[in-house]
Amino acid sequence: MSTTISNTSTHTGLGMAPVVPTTGALTPLGLDEVRITDGFWADRQRVNGSATLPHVEHWLEREGWLRNFDLAAAGTLPEGRRGREFADSEVYKYLEAVAWELGRLGGDDALESRFRSVVDRVAAAQEADGYVNTRFGRPGQGERWSDLEWGHELYCLGHLFQAAVARERTSPGADDGLLGIATRAADLICEVFGTDGIQSVCGHAEVEVGLAELARVTGESRYLDLASLFVERRGTGVLADIEYGRAYFQDDVPIREAEALRGHAVRANYLAAGATDIAVEHGDTGLLEALRGQWDRTIARRTYLTGGQGSHHQDEAFGEDFELPSDRAYSETCAGIASIMFSWRLLLEDRDVRYADHIERVLYNVVATSPSAAGTAFFYANTLHQRTPGESSPADEVSPRASSSERAPWFDVSCCPPNVARTLASLAAFVATSDDHGVQIHQFASATIDTTIGGAHGGRFRAELVTDYPRSGVVSLRILEAPREAVTVSIRVPSWADDARLSVAPADGADETLDVAPGYADVARVFAAGDVVELSFDMRPRVTHPDPRVDAIRGAVAIERGPEVYCVESVDLPGGDESLAHIEIDPDAGVEEAGDGRLTVALRARPDADAAWPYAERFDASHDAEPFTATIAPYHSWAERGPSTMRVWIPTTRS
Ligand SMILES: [Zn+2]
Repeated sequence: MSTTISNTSTHTGLGMAPVVPTTGALTPLGLDEVRITDGFWADRQRVNGSATLPHVEHWLEREGWLRNFDLAAAGTLPEGRRGREFADSEVYKYLEAVAWELGRLGGDDALESRFRSVVDRVAAAQEADGYVNTRFGRPGQGERWSDLEWGHELYCLGHLFQAAVARERTSPGADDGLLGIATRAADLICEVFGTDGIQSVCGHAEVEVGLAELARVTGESRYLDLASLFVERRGTGVLADIEYGRAYFQDDVPIREAEALRGHAVRANYLAAGATDIAVEHGDTGLLEALRGQWDRTIARRTYLTGGQGSHHQDEAFGEDFELPSDRAYSETCAGIASIMFSWRLLLEDRDVRYADHIERVLYNVVATSPSAAGTAFFYANTLHQRTPGESSPADEVSPRASSSERAPWFDVSCCPPNVARTLASLAAFVATSDDHGVQIHQFASATIDTTIGGAHGGRFRAELVTDYPRSGVVSLRILEAPREAVTVSIRVPSWADDARLSVAPADGADETLDVAPGYADVARVFAAGDVVELSFDMRPRVTHPDPRVDAIRGAVAIERGPEVYCVESVDLPGGDESLAHIEIDPDAGVEEAGDGRLTVALRARPDADAAWPYAERFDASHDAEPFTATIAPYHSWAERGPSTMRVWIPTTRS
């Protein structure tokens, strides 16, 4: 017997978005309703489509991860299989990225045929009972589901499900067969892992978010029920203990009892995102409350200034509260993306601006940092302090995941590049939402909005969002068409914008301007074509101090401007001084605009006092070095000019 779930929203969009809950405070607007047209993110979306997607496909082919499916279809595995146990998932993430890209472009014949050719290769590898994985289940390979701790079979399926969901939402009813591949695999795991099946979970959470969204797309509640079983089982010691401890895969404490995210940072956030989906669909207020608490504590105590998460290299994991060393920041790109996934789901449920603020922080300082300007090399880990210049990553070599100070074209574990690709391709879905009262703007980008507001007084709403943010702090929303009844337009005022002003310039009438506080600024009125709502705020640079409990950076400050975190990079210092350890900043000397997003600060290079033993009753604290003016640039733009050293947190001359 099967039951179905269905969407109760009166919103009429196609739901061309990664997350479409059936209930919640906000309804996401899809890629058919919001298009990013110009500026910071439009540039990155163009590079993603023209350079990153072909780059990822090239490497999937070159490394044999696509060919693994051909070998599976030919029945010759395990001979010739290449890549790690989770290599299949990168193919699925690539398919998801292409599906969103096709939705973003409104179709593209060449890309469509590339998409279909990859789906065909996956389809050929699927077994009669729905099983699909190139690493397990054949003679000479491990048995199916025999290594749940490390095998990643369910993890890979989670990415398959997300790819199929992206395809169905951007090309409803497409005849490529991807949705069928996904549902056959989902049906199989409902049997294998259901109430009477294997009472365990995958070592890497991810199948939960995939199952939840597959349930939303198909209306099949069994998929949601299975996701719920996975969420509830974890934390009860169903997986074997490992060298990093069960916290590594969040199997140490049941999710309802956990106080913060812990263990592997990507796993923890994927799990929390999936649990949020289940809590929302089941109206499970207890689970939601636990997740909100975990988000709060993780942001307050376990997150870098960049929004990055994870301060242990060895297990890619969260540290203890306030254990956030700059030079050992792991801050995996995927952990940032996973944190956006968790935050976005809570934002849709709660309409709490803090989630949107955090998403912006991660977008500008983790997601924008990972890919090179050319879109063909990536950071896997995102350190906040590069002590030595490191070596360049050759453009045609696979890199260990976190060993270089420069971006690398591909990794032996290459989760991050396709994760960036799917995020950038679907980014328009994170810009705005609607409810029965109006439209909410969460992220700033020049964009067009064309949607239908639900509710009794709803109707078509079209508008143009215009901004050159983050260069300036002016965001204009020009109304092109609005319902005849009053609707509310809400625009996020960032947490640091304490002097924001909102003006309403009706097409016919006098301007009104009012001061607005951080949060959502609401304008409720009957809008007419030509009305302009404009939010403006000061983008003056800010000197940011850490909580003293983040003791690794005590006595240091960072510079931020708008959503962007800045850094000192050796190539900007006189003589290319690579020893940033002795650099100090005089925060009282001011931070000035230097044009093109760059700033100038007053630095001083304290003379090194080389000693045989680097500890003493007193070190030479000579403060007579001459200050000099140096240029600093946004952190996301570092490491584009050859090997360099860099730091975000700079000790002050007072320390
Ligand atoms: Zn990754």
